[in-house]
Amino acid sequence: MKLITFTTGDEPRLGAVRGEQVIDLGKASGGKLPADMIAFLSGGDEAMTLARKLAQDADADLALSNVTLLAPVPTPSKVVAIGQNYMDHCREQGVEPPTLPIIFTKFSTAVVGPGAEIRWDPELTSKVDYEVELAVVIGRRARRVSEDEALDYVAGYTVCNDVSARNLQFGDGQWVRAKSLDTFCPLGPWLVTRDEIPDPQNLAVRTTLNGEVMQESTTAEMIFGVRELIAFASRAFTLLPGDVIVTGTPPGVGVFRDPPVFLKDGDEITVEVEVIGKITNHCVEERP
Ligand code: ZN
Repeated sequence: MKLITFTTGDEPRLGAVRGEQVIDLGKASGGKLPADMIAFLSGGDEAMTLARKLAQDADADLALSNVTLLAPVPTPSKVVAIGQNYMDHCREQGVEPPTLPIIFTKFSTAVVGPGAEIRWDPELTSKVDYEVELAVVIGRRARRVSEDEALDYVAGYTVCNDVSARNLQFGDGQWVRAKSLDTFCPLGPWLVTRDEIPDPQNLAVRTTLNGEVMQESTTAEMIFGVRELIAFASRAFTLLPGDVIVTGTPPGVGVFRDPPVFLKDGDEITVEVEVIGKITNHCVEERP
C-alpha cells in the first residue's frame, strides 16, 4: 500500500494511492482514521488494517494528478541520518569504512515534499549537494530493539534527498547545520508499506540532475543495513512512530567529482529508489 499526505489547498490529509487515484482515508473511514500520518501510525495494526481495506474497497474521489503531495511524514519528531554507509561511497572518498554507524540529524523543519523548491541563501552556501537515500519510516515506538525484530518496527519506506551544504559541513566541524537548512530534506513521494519491500537491502538507487545520471548503486552496498541501524539507534534513544532514518548515500555526489558539481539556481534534481518511486525538486537561490 502507498500512503500519502496530500492537500487540495486546505489542511493536509492522509490518503492511499490506488493506481492514478487517491482515497481520502479520513473521509472514507467516517473519521475513524486521522488526517495526520503520525497519529495514523500511532494507531498501530488496527489503523493499518482498516487503511488497507479502504485502500482496496473504498470509492476513490480524487485523481492523483489533482492533489499536491506533501512529505508522507511532514514533521517527524526526528530525522536520524547515517554518514558514510555505502561501501562504494567509502571507496570513492578513499576512507576506511566506519566500524560503527555514524549518526547525525536533520531537523524536521528541513522536510519538504516532492515538487517543493530546494532553496538556499547564496551568501550562506554555494556548495549545495544531493544525496539519494532509502528512508525508513518507523511504525511503532522502538527502544532497545534487536536486529532480528527490527523490521517489525518499520511502517514502510520512502525516498530522501539528503541535501547538504558542503562548505558548512566541512567548515563547522560537525554536520547538523549543513544538513538542516530549511528545505534540505525532500521526502516522498509516498510511504510504501513494508509488506511490499520484504528485503530493503536489494534496491537500486539513482540520482539524476537535469536528466543526467549522477548516482547509481544499490542498497546492497550498505555497510550497516536497516536492521542494524534500527538496533543501533534504539540502543541509544527511543524511535517514535513517524521518525525517519535516512540510511546513507552511494558514490557520485557532487563534491567528490572532478571537477565538483554543485546544485545551481534552476536545476532539477531527482532521487529514486527501486519499487518505491522518485521525487523531483527544483533549486532556487533565495537572497533574504
Ligand atoms: Zn546522507
